[in-house]
Amino acid sequence: VTRATTAARAAAAVSAERLQALFHSISEVGAYGRAADGRHGCERLAFSEEAHIAHQLFAEAARETGLTVRRDRIGNTFARLGPADRETAPVLTGSHLDTVAAGGCFDGAAGVVCSLEAVRAVSLAFRESGAALPRPLEVVAWANEEGARFPPAMMGSAVYAGSLPIEAALSATDSEGISVRDALAARAPGEGTQPLLPPASYLELHIEQGVELEAAGVPVAVVDGVQAQLAGDWRMIGREAHAGATPMERRRDALLGAAALITEVSGIAHAHPPGVATVGKSVAFPGSRNTVPGLVEATIDLRHPEERAVRTMAADFIRAGEACAAQCGLSFEFTERWRSPRVTFSPHLVDLCSRAADAAGIPALRLFSAAGHDAVNLAPITPAAMLFVPSTGGVSHHPEEFTEMNALVQGARVLSATLALLLG
Ligand SMILES: [Zn+2]
Repeated sequence: VTRATTAARAAAAVSAERLQALFHSISEVGAYGRAADGRHGCERLAFSEEAHIAHQLFAEAARETGLTVRRDRIGNTFARLGPADRETAPVLTGSHLDTVAAGGCFDGAAGVVCSLEAVRAVSLAFRESGAALPRPLEVVAWANEEGARFPPAMMGSAVYAGSLPIEAALSATDSEGISVRDALAARAPGEGTQPLLPPASYLELHIEQGVELEAAGVPVAVVDGVQAQLAGDWRMIGREAHAGATPMERRRDALLGAAALITEVSGIAHAHPPGVATVGKSVAFPGSRNTVPGLVEATIDLRHPEERAVRTMAADFIRAGEACAAQCGLSFEFTERWRSPRVTFSPHLVDLCSRAADAAGIPALRLFSAAGHDAVNLAPITPAAMLFVPSTGGVSHHPEEFTEMNALVQGARVLSATLALLLG
């Protein structure tokens, strides 16, 4: 039996029914905003009751499929097919089960569900070919990919990969001062084991969260890498004053300076195509109708495929912030929150994904990812690659986030074929 035959068998063994059943049961956890057609959003903030239940549903489905489940100290759930020895590194595949506040059902969960079904299909294909699995296959549901409640984003995979110390992760707090340690202890007391071996390779299927696949009418993309990102917080500091009694020339209106800066942000991105820049949050204080705002606290998110361009955009932004502050008699403060480098995935693995799509008879594009993913944290420690499936209208982090079930099935087939080629 040739490798391509086993890969084609692995692709064909993917069950649309099983995939759909698990996806729907996980989608019900944290469901909100149900529309007339039954579609809805999902809210499962990291380390919440909902996220915990989703991890449990995944664990149950994995056990039913014959996998062995364990959880590590940061709350990542691993499900392994094959022996739990310390000699043979597993091939790891997965994604995350947490969502942003008021998010969609597909971001993250699509990859976890497709990974479990792909692993099941690969084991069937090997059995059919009369061969034993040469190394364990492991499916992972990462904890806290979004960082929506507890920054930083991609926390679970960063701890796993060793780029974030476990103590730092456990000490991270949400806006109410609750720590990751306390949130974890409230739901899974006493659990948590150390990882076994680093994986032999890592694959992640994810929704595109962009429009290129839909525009091309192609069900799957093989991802070459992820663009660089810089996230920061900034403040405009002025002075609160009476909205009636303070003449215009005596004001130090923080919101006026912030507004001037926000209007410059799109220009900064346009000056560095295809860079993007976003002020996602800004809050004026004291937030009173009859008081000149004395303080604005806001965020900035800068991304570009080239790291150097992100640094230039950040420098341009800080310069613009200082200029806008000076014009309005304010002071400007900037704090870098995190920086994720441009990631280029393993050319060998990317090539294997393309060949797997061929073996499965499924057309696939090549793309560069606009969003960060857990695969970014895995890439420095093991060969990593990603597959994308289409996002209808490019919508994500929104209740209308949607991917056709057929596209998910096609994605799982390519993933399954890739795993088979990797093992073969
Ligand atoms: Zn995601």
